[in-house]
Amino acid sequence: MARTPFIAGNWKMNKTVAEGLELVRELKQAVAGINDVDIVVGPTFTTLAAVAEEVKGSNISVSAQNVHWEANGAYTGEISAGMLKEIPVEYVIIGHSERRQYFGETDETVNKRTKAALAAGLKPIVCVGELLEERESGKTDEVVGQQTRQGLAGLSAADMENTVVAYEPVWAIGTGLTASPQQAQDVHAMIRAILREMFGQVADSVRILYGGSVKAANTAELMAGADIDGALVGGASLKAADFAGIITNARG
Ligand code: PEP
Repeated sequence: MARTPFIAGNWKMNKTVAEGLELVRELKQAVAGINDVDIVVGPTFTTLAAVAEEVKGSNISVSAQNVHWEANGAYTGEISAGMLKEIPVEYVIIGHSERRQYFGETDETVNKRTKAALAAGLKPIVCVGELLEERESGKTDEVVGQQTRQGLAGLSAADMENTVVAYEPVWAIGTGLTASPQQAQDVHAMIRAILREMFGQVADSVRILYGGSVKAANTAELMAGADIDGALVGGASLKAADFAGIITNARG
């Protein structure tokens, strides 16, 4: 099945409002007319509204980097799915390895956030990936399999039509190390097999992104993998020319 390539940039804790607007204005020009790739940028919470306004009517969509599972209440520092919809943003990154590593994110909280996002009409980008020691001890399939099953537990096939999965080996994030195209494809194929087992045929239309030191120069070889449908990009999404190069090289 042909799946539209999907390239998302995760700005992490980078860019002021002014810097984010400058980046997205340059990006808009650089990718004008590209309508065969889904293009998403993920600013910080404070920059989301300005960026969402700036890309209105363009081929660029906006993602938040986290969402809480409750609609409102005494959850200091958190943002609800309804609040994100109000901006409006379309996507939300959930379960990024930095959230897991530094902020106590678990498969259970990933699952709660994912359900809340979907219930509010947001499209989750659910991240999974193994640590270096897990890969070296042969546990990649077990770890990524469990994160996938538990993160997506209880979702429906219809939910999966609006869900994107990102496989990001933790050892490849921000390190300059990239999984080889074969290593990435092997894990993507396993994830798709799990999606098929859990949700049936819709698995064939779910976009599964690779993340971990993606740049323009390695995009095409990664995306040659049959189950690799795009990329979640950190560092290289912070410069319009670099990100545009990835988007251009992701075109079929
Ligand atoms: C990420 O944080 O999602 C990521 C893949 O980062 P980088 O591209 O910088 O490795």
